[in-house]
Amino acid sequence: MSSTLDFDIRPNPRPTPAAERERILENPGWGQHFTDHMVTIRYSADKGWHDARLEPYGPLALDPASQVLHYSQELFEGLKAYRQADGSVVTFRPFSNAARMNRSARRMAMPDIPEELFVRALEVLVSTDRDWVPDQPGHSLYLRPFMFATTRALGVNQPAQEYLFVVIASPSGNYYARGIRPVTVWLSQTYTRAAPGGTGEAKTGGNYAASFAGQAEAVAHGCDQVVWLDAVEHRWVEEVGSMNLMFVLGSGSGARLLTPALTGTLLPGITRDSMLKLAPDLGIPVEEGKINIDEWQAGCESGEITEVFGCGTAAIISPVGAVRGADREWTIGNGEPGELSMRLREELLGIQSGTRPDPYGWIH
Ligand code: PMP
Repeated sequence: MSSTLDFDIRPNPRPTPAAERERILENPGWGQHFTDHMVTIRYSADKGWHDARLEPYGPLALDPASQVLHYSQELFEGLKAYRQADGSVVTFRPFSNAARMNRSARRMAMPDIPEELFVRALEVLVSTDRDWVPDQPGHSLYLRPFMFATTRALGVNQPAQEYLFVVIASPSGNYYARGIRPVTVWLSQTYTRAAPGGTGEAKTGGNYAASFAGQAEAVAHGCDQVVWLDAVEHRWVEEVGSMNLMFVLGSGSGARLLTPALTGTLLPGITRDSMLKLAPDLGIPVEEGKINIDEWQAGCESGEITEVFGCGTAAIISPVGAVRGADREWTIGNGEPGELSMRLREELLGIQSGTRPDPYGWIH
């Protein structure tokens, strides 16, 4: 049950040839290629966390009655490792991801993983597969820790007694390879992502399975992403796609940031939290509050809302240029990426890539 578990290191006897790896790293795309290794750690109610391994990346053998395949007891996380100018490799706020996974675990009646063990698992994988961390600007190694129920039982009366924690890694390219393009978002009043008392604030696969139909509806209306509204009145703004939303009110030295408060139905994004800490230090006041779609539209039409962006690990920030719903449509500012959005993006990217100081201790 300890964070000092020794990892059984089993190197991949057939790693990807260097030339092939270099070819992949030139244009890695997103989530399509995986490194040579993975970490696995088992949990059982009687033994706690045990059997930590670094092993060759490959298929997992699962009993068809594994609880996860039927009742979706599953969690995941996402964060990145970045190459620094001196060749070293860092991760961004890994202890925050560990803490979030443990908060998700409580909601899903799954075991906590010691934060040090979670971070150690990332370190073991990243240091073994460090040649997979891209060095082109804007590229990174995406890390995907996840955990799921392996108990062989169809009974639905109690949570599983056994779990597998896994970490895999995937080189990721520049989200904005063709330049920063603002997205058009769709106000879905058909589908909701999360309801009070539900699992919206947990990072569990079911939330994402349930989101595909809403995303398909957005695409059918010519939009890039779906805006998730509250489940009760269908008008309070919560998130966009798999990002948190930020509104810039005012401009120049009077600009301030507003983001929907964490009410239990939103995922507490680590990028969101970073923005809330970074912006005040740049002289931009922040507020966690509530905003509905009428206020959003009126604010854009009056010019009070000057910029809107989604924020998350994948893109850092993704500017929103226009909003469309069943009975309305409007643009934000002139529809182009806003100045403050771009500044916040540069600041955070600078900390992650080591070109700006990190007074917050976010770099690990
Ligand atoms: N909301 C949802 C629903 C998400 O899936 C994500 C991505 N994890 C986020 C927000 C942004 O979180 P983070 O900044 O930690 O990537």
